[in-house]
This record gives sequence, C-alpha cells and structure tokens, in this order.
Amino acid sequence: METILVLVYAEADGSLAKPAREALGAARSLQASLDGSTLVVGLVGEDVQPAANSVAGCGADRFLGVSGPAFGQSRYATDALAAESLCHEAGASLILAPGTSRWCRALPGVAHRLGGRADAHVTEISLADGAPSVARWYYRQRMEAAIRRTHRPWVMLIDPGCVAPWEGAAGQASVHALAVEPSAACLRTTVAGLQAPPADAQTIRPDAALLFVAGAGWTKTQPDGKPHAAEAADLILGFLRKTQASLGGSKSLVDLSGEGQATLPFMTHLNQIGQTGATPRHPKGLATCCHGEEPHAVGWRFINERRAVNLDPGCGWARGKADVLYVADAFAVMAKVNALLAEA
Ligand SMILES: Cc1cc2nc3c(=O)[nH]c(=O)nc-3n(C[C@H](O)[C@H](O)[C@H](O)COP(=O)(O)OP(=O)(O)OC[C@H]3O[C@@H](n4cnc5c(N)ncnc54)[C@H](O)[C@@H]3O)c2cc1C
Repeated sequence: METILVLVYAEADGSLAKPAREALGAARSLQASLDGSTLVVGLVGEDVQPAANSVAGCGADRFLGVSGPAFGQSRYATDALAAESLCHEAGASLILAPGTSRWCRALPGVAHRLGGRADAHVTEISLADGAPSVARWYYRQRMEAAIRRTHRPWVMLIDPGCVAPWEGAAGQASVHALAVEPSAACLRTTVAGLQAPPADAQTIRPDAALLFVAGAGWTKTQPDGKPHAAEAADLILGFLRKTQASLGGSKSLVDLSGEGQATLPFMTHLNQIGQTGATPRHPKGLATCCHGEEPHAVGWRFINERRAVNLDPGCGWARGKADVLYVADAFAVMAKVNALLAEA
C-alpha cells in the first residue's frame, strides 16, 4: 500500500506555481491508478494556508505544513529539514515534487537522509505490472529510459512542463502544522535579495507557445555585402514583443555575442538550444538564419511543429529536421511577419 506525498512550496505571494500544480496532477493520477494508496500534500513556506486552500479540492487525505519566516526562503538547510519532517510525518513511500531548482537542490539530500532513492528529470509517471514506473531521458534527450524501483521511499522530481497541472476548486483546507524549529546552524545562509532582468529583457519564456531561434546568419554579410546586426536586433526584438515568444539561439550566434562582437547583445549562452544547450518544450518552433546542424537540432527534440527560414535549400532543416522550410531571406520574411502582426 503506497503513501504518496506531494511536496510543494508556497511562492512569496502565497500561491502555488504551475510546476507545483503539475506535480499535484501527477500525484492525483498515480493515486487513482494505485489501489488503496493515500495522498498527502506537504507544504513548505512562510505561510502555507493560502496555498493549501488553492488546492483544497484535490482530494488529498491529509494536508501537512511546515511554515514560518525561516521556511519562506529557498535555502538548502531549512528546505531539507522541512521536507524530511513532512516525509516522516506522512510515512511517505512515494514522494513527488516539482523539479524546480529549489527542490532539485534539497530533495536528493533528503532522500539520502531517509535511506531512500531519488530520480530527477522525470518526464512521465505510469504504471507497469501494477507498480509505478518513471520515464526520463539520457544522453541529451536521445534515449528514453523507463525506471522501476522496489526501494522506498522513492523521490521523483518531475520536470516542469511535462504533466497537466491540477485544476480544481479552491476551498478551506485543514492543514496539520508540524512544529519544526531550525537550529542556528540551519540559518547561516540568508537570501539577500533577488536579481532579475526587467520583464521586457527576459527573453527565455518556458511557457511560450512558440520558440523563436536566431542563428548566426543574422550577423553574416548579406547580399549587399554588409552585415545588418542592428536591423536584425530590431526585427527579432519586435517579433518577440508582439508574440511573447521565447528566444533561442544557435551556438555560433551565442558564441559571437559572448566574444563581445557587435552582434545581438541580448543573446546569451542561456539562450543556446542544442546538444550543449537547452532542450525546451514548446508546441511550435521557428528557426531563422540557422543551418539546422545535428548538435543544434538535438535541442528541438520536444518541439512539436518545426519551421525554418534559410536562404540555403540544402541546409540541415531541408534534410528531415523541419516540417516546413521556407527558402527565403529571413530579413524580408520577418519584416513582413512583423508588419502583419502590427495590423492584427
Ligand atoms: C559537440 C558539439 C556540440 C554542439 N552543440 C551545439 C548546441 O548545443 N547548439 C548549437 O546551436 N550548436 C551546437 N554545435 C554547433 C553546431 O554544429 C553548429 O556549428 C551551429 O549550430 C551552427 O550555428 P548556425 O546554424 O547559427 O550558423 P551557421 O552554420 O553559420 O549557419 C548560418 C545560416 O544562416 C543562413 N543565412 C544567412 N543569411 C540568411 C538570411 N538573410 N536569411 C535566411 N538565412 C540566412 C545561412 O544559409 C546558414 O545556413 C555543437 C557542435 C559540436 C561539435
């Protein structure tokens, strides 16, 4: 008989973020498929009641909370202490949590303290021969493995964006508060503040419907014999502003920007898509001025619908890497697209 604990933390405004509701959705499905299992929601935060209330209708058997000012911050020592206490109190055998940076840092250590096991980057939880099985990808998303464990407790960190978030009625949740007192040693680290770029400078948007990828071609000499980096920047940023698409880059382009050349200043290594870059999940992707080399296209593994604009009809996209290739000048295409978007 499994006891499923879904571990979530409240955001600074008291809400539960989408990855937390995704983990709850996964936990609900797992509970429904495992006969006789119980579901416990464990919450951590400065004040967990509003977060618990927002998922009051999820059908959990129990709500447990560890709260107080010390637990509002993302800090290994207090996060691990809170999670460990919740796992003990719940008697959890299966522990599901969103694979955010905060939990990915704390929960493998908690699994160790509990004598359990942890799997990160879980993309799916299913049932095989009546027992839970998780899927995760290896070798830069080229191979998928299905993993089963008999060892308990088993911590599963679920990658954001893979599971439908739990949606349902809010209400009044009855939260059993655990009395957890962090020692002085647990509080040595403090979060001094958060630094984030202004909203319009933030070009990486994991939840966007479209991934727009810019390649090195935007900075190359164009048919008039000159590069047009400033025009390229205007076209790309104009498109992003209008569509709220997420911005990706090829390695060649982000390397150029990193070397301080007059290229596209907003493009950093964080934008890089590919074998040595990110593997984002978006319903659609549009690659522009990028050749579609294999190490780059590896990062397109989870993009469902792929289109590309390239001057070269023999580029990588034309060889099975894209659904549609427009053999055209991306400067002209994007100027026209932006004009059409401005009319819409
Ligand atoms: C081990 C390894 C790991 C790697 N990992 C990654 C990775 O994670 N991500 C990654 O991106 N790369 C990676 N690479 C590099 C990769 O192989 C390519 O070199 C890189 O992706 C090329 O970038 P690009 O297509 O932007 O540039 P280029 O190859 O220079 O292509 C530019 C393209 O722009 C087109 N173009 C120029 N002007 C226009 C225009 N006006 N309109 C339309 N098209 C135009 C050209 O036809 C050309 O196809 C890796 C390589 C190795 C060896």
